Amino acid sequence: MPIPSGAREGAVALSERYAGVVLDIDGVLVRGAEPIPGSAGAVERLIAAGVGIAFATNNAARTPEQVAAALRAAGVPATAEFVVTSAMAAAGMLTPGTRCLIIGMEGLRQALDRRGCVEIRAPGDAEAVVVGLDTDLRWDDLRRATLALAAGARFLGTNGDVTFPGPDGLWPGNGAVLAALTAATGRSPELAGKPHAPLLLAAADRLPPPEGGQRLLMVGDRHETDIVGAAALGWDTALVLSGVATAEDERVWTPPPTYVAPTLAALLRRLTQDSRV
Ligand SMILES: [Mg+2]
Repeated sequence: MPIPSGAREGAVALSERYAGVVLDIDGVLVRGAEPIPGSAGAVERLIAAGVGIAFATNNAARTPEQVAAALRAAGVPATAEFVVTSAMAAAGMLTPGTRCLIIGMEGLRQALDRRGCVEIRAPGDAEAVVVGLDTDLRWDDLRRATLALAAGARFLGTNGDVTFPGPDGLWPGNGAVLAALTAATGRSPELAGKPHAPLLLAAADRLPPPEGGQRLLMVGDRHETDIVGAAALGWDTALVLSGVATAEDERVWTPPPTYVAPTLAALLRRLTQDSRV
């Protein structure tokens, strides 16, 4: 069999290796609202090559429609049906009809509503306490959640990230709020977001099922969430250095990523070159 020489042949071989790619968003495709150079074109080439694409974010504040619109504004071809947030993954862990005491923003409220869960405010009525980032958090929210948890409600967190990057330094993330509730109750939350499986499995549900030796590939910029979570599911992993992780961190990367690349665009160049050999 001749060795394919063109980019198109390389791309076809790539789709034989990977049924789909799950892309983390911040640090891979964008930094805040700024596009990461080459990433939009790389996504277009993956789609043209017939590789399934899903976008997975631990950010629970926004709806998938808002996330997809922000990606399109950055030039990335994205539609809401291929976006999975940790809020959606958390909602998927609940039975429709569950009465939920919610700490969170529009992304979490919409996900729970679409799941058929019912928002309640009285702690005594709660079957579950579901906690996502809420930048308008008040002490009364923590009070009601604490009472519900003490009464035995299920405890779910969208994600456990204790910080996230703000323009002037690290800001407290959902994990910091969960830690406050753990301190008050002695209870530990079930978590939906990376590195836990629910978000990654929900993203995989948007992809064609692997067949004939195909695998799934996770691309992310945080080793402790993106890479650790996907490796635990047996997926291939690619750590890109366009976000949080830097090459100086390499000695602490356990398990080691399948690939390390400066950017998504550089990763795709390497994958398509490998595929021609
Ligand atoms: Mg990221």
